[in-house]
Amino acid sequence: MPHVMHDDVDRILFSEEQIQQRVGELGAQIVEEYGGRDPHLITIVKGSIPFISDLMRAMDTPLSLDLLGVSSYAGTSSSGEVRLTKDLDSSIEGRHVLVVEDIIDTGLTLSYVLRNLRQRAPASLKVVTFLDKPAGRGTPVEADYVGFTIPDEFVIGYGLDWNQRYRNLPYVGILKRDVYAGPL
Ligand code: 5GP
Repeated sequence: MPHVMHDDVDRILFSEEQIQQRVGELGAQIVEEYGGRDPHLITIVKGSIPFISDLMRAMDTPLSLDLLGVSSYAGTSSSGEVRLTKDLDSSIEGRHVLVVEDIIDTGLTLSYVLRNLRQRAPASLKVVTFLDKPAGRGTPVEADYVGFTIPDEFVIGYGLDWNQRYRNLPYVGILKRDVYAGPL
């Protein structure tokens, strides 16, 4: 029998339809609030790839895009260390930067990213996150725009991985505990 990814999912939190609907709303809201200022979207790879792909197409405005790579996680828990794995291609000085995140949990990654980007003198610096897990927060940092607020559970899909897998699930779900706990 081939391994079926969906069998590892305990339950679905947000369906493909719910995600499309919410991301569409977010895109429209951001465009309205930015007015004439062209946003420069900085996507944190790899987890934000499906989100940026849908979000940018929901933004009917001139915009530009760059990628930033950071890594902070091993398995299902934070290693407590954030590392830059890929730097931006171009300068953000004087630009209206919107950081695009997949999920904010402890806030460690985002606070590192914001500290790093602030030093590069953008005209403005805001954050949109697909998911927010406020119960996990140790570092006081908030997003300006939030797709969905979720309980303190480890979620996968729509870009979010467990050990690099499940990023391609079109929905957001909770992984069965026995998948990451391993066989008894
Ligand atoms: P933070 O630094 O805020 O604790 O975590 C941010 C990063 O940790 C996210 O960009 C994401 O890669 C990972 N992360 C946090 N919570 C989850 C989760 O529930 N599921 C998955 N797959 N990754 C998570």
